[in-house]
Amino acid sequence: MARETIVRKASDLTEEEDRALRPQRIRDMVGQGDVTARLDIALDAARKRSETLGHILFDGPPGLGKTTLAMAIPRELGTSIQIASGAALQAPKDLIPYLTNAESNSVIFIDEIHRLPKIVEEFLYPAMEDFRIDLTLGDGVNARTINMTLRPFTLIGATTRAGMISAPLRDRFVMREHLEFYTLDELAEIVRRNAAKLNTAIDEAACREIAHRSRGTPRLANNRLRWVRDYATSKADGRVTIQLADAALEMQGIDPLGLDGQDRKYLETIIRTFAGGPVGVEAVAHTLNLPPDTLVDEVEPFLLRAGLVIRTPRGRRATVAAYEHLGAAPPPEAAGGATLF
Ligand code: ADP
Repeated sequence: MARETIVRKASDLTEEEDRALRPQRIRDMVGQGDVTARLDIALDAARKRSETLGHILFDGPPGLGKTTLAMAIPRELGTSIQIASGAALQAPKDLIPYLTNAESNSVIFIDEIHRLPKIVEEFLYPAMEDFRIDLTLGDGVNARTINMTLRPFTLIGATTRAGMISAPLRDRFVMREHLEFYTLDELAEIVRRNAAKLNTAIDEAACREIAHRSRGTPRLANNRLRWVRDYATSKADGRVTIQLADAALEMQGIDPLGLDGQDRKYLETIIRTFAGGPVGVEAVAHTLNLPPDTLVDEVEPFLLRAGLVIRTPRGRRATVAAYEHLGAAPPPEAAGGATLF
């Protein structure tokens, strides 16, 4: 059950709805101004010189816009994109069709690129660097290697785990861009724009409330907006007021900080089961019956950013703010942590 809750987080919107709300061009994106300014320059230069755009790596927590940026780039260049996932590319032969089908100056997007096995990574190096691959035909004594030239392409990688990318792969990306959580104003703007796209009348206070409870993440803002909209349609005349937004989010178990049941269970486990920590992430994951990766990728980044937990060499610790948020009395030794934002 717990696992289902978290998997749903990433996919609350149907594909069609997601497409409708996803910004198509870089200029349509809200926030990430530094990243988009650098991309604009690189795109402009590539266009002016009629050259291939350099390879780009995006990293950051889920739902912050890595895929959106990767899909906007070929539109800016007027070229095509092929989309692959690191988890599905388990052998060099899985990658070959993408490389050989790539049109000149087109984009190959590999999501979850940290999941590429080493053998596939190594196969990618000459493709990225010199646009060629070495193919081995036959095996045993009859094996021979042929060298194949590819049309130049741009590789865009996305990862929630920059630390898991090997240095040789990382170094082959010309641009490495880290996406940060969005500010309240940026998320409110996303909610405002998307409510208009969904033909939904919404109060300014409701926009800000949904933004405030979206954990700095546009994908969650979209999911919350959709739920609040459904709620307003079912319980009232469809117009989203602050009262309806509050009631709808409370019904979904999303608290005033934007944490959902899963986030609170994580904090409760550290505080109640492990006396506030320090505790290793594996032990918390085991207790919650969740894969540690899910905690590290999806749950912890915002809680760390919000100063509710801290990482120490001996494991995670709940801060005073976490105790207070759960209405528990912090022990004298609880860590202060950063201020909430
Ligand atoms: P990631 O690949 O980082 O997990 P996505 O690019 O799939 O995240 O973004 C999730 C959703 O959030 C998108 O469908 C889009 O609607 C919305 N979104 C992401 N970034 C922005 C942004 N900068 N402005 C507006 N909406 C955004």
